[in-house]
Amino acid sequence: MKDIATPSRTREILKKYGFAFKKSLGQNFLVDPNVLNRITEAAGLTKETAAIEIGPGIGALTEHLARKAGKVVAFEIDKRLLPILKDTLSPYKNVEIIHQDVLKANVKEVIKEELSGYSDIMVVANLPYYVTTPIIMKLLEECLPIRGLVVMMQKEVADRLSAQPGTKEYGSLSIAVQYYTEAKTAFVVPKTVFIPQPNVDSAVIHLKRRTKPLVEVDNESFFFSLVKAAFAQRRKTLINNLTSQMPNGKEKKEQILNILAEAEIDPSRRGESLSIQEFARLSNLLYPLFS
Ligand code: SAM
Repeated sequence: MKDIATPSRTREILKKYGFAFKKSLGQNFLVDPNVLNRITEAAGLTKETAAIEIGPGIGALTEHLARKAGKVVAFEIDKRLLPILKDTLSPYKNVEIIHQDVLKANVKEVIKEELSGYSDIMVVANLPYYVTTPIIMKLLEECLPIRGLVVMMQKEVADRLSAQPGTKEYGSLSIAVQYYTEAKTAFVVPKTVFIPQPNVDSAVIHLKRRTKPLVEVDNESFFFSLVKAAFAQRRKTLINNLTSQMPNGKEKKEQILNILAEAEIDPSRRGESLSIQEFARLSNLLYPLFS
């Protein structure tokens, strides 16, 4: 039988089930087997690998994962897709579909229960665009026992993941991703390989989990709240953002200024000019003032 990810088979499946796309769930299905081959290749899958997929849709990517990986666990939020997936993926016995919003799922527990025999686990997904950032943040922050992620997203979001200081793409997402992973763009995907076609091109990103974070911080959650504060209003200076965003920041202005001097960071710089190393240094010096 033809791959699910061909325009003719996808249309046939959609017609058979009278499936209507929900834009609100970011439903853009891939219809190009070559793109799928490149995604699974980038993920470095073998039968010793388990794959976690988010949003299998009608199973386009799931099918390729099932062929190459030992086992696939896929989270799908849309109940209407369950009977379709049961049908389209019936030739593959190594796939488990979980009907759940991945943002509410206990992924660690699912790994323990479903993938206990696997030491090599990859997240591989064509992510729903409306929740790309929260999904990536959740999977990174939960410190899952995974080798990494190979994920497709809007190119514009992809550019933010590996952005460098001083660029308009650089922000708290870039810092979080670089803290936990080494991010690389695997390839760019034109909008023509989806049904329905999105408005913008996509990119496949490879996020390789670091064995330890890029910088050492005394308190991770304080570090991330500092980063968030520094980017709260991008046009404001660092000192203005910190005093307006940090708890009792206004009263602590003098102390914050002293600590910035100690960290050798000019208070009139903008948050977007600070490197992750500077954020780490500042976080470790400021933490005692806010704990
Ligand atoms: N993997 C398929 C493909 O490549 O053709 C479909 C990808 S489509 C971009 C995104 C999929 O994610 C849809 O099937 C959608 O229903 C599902 N989805 C959206 N939000 C979700 C969530 N919070 N949790 C799990 N699945 C979600």
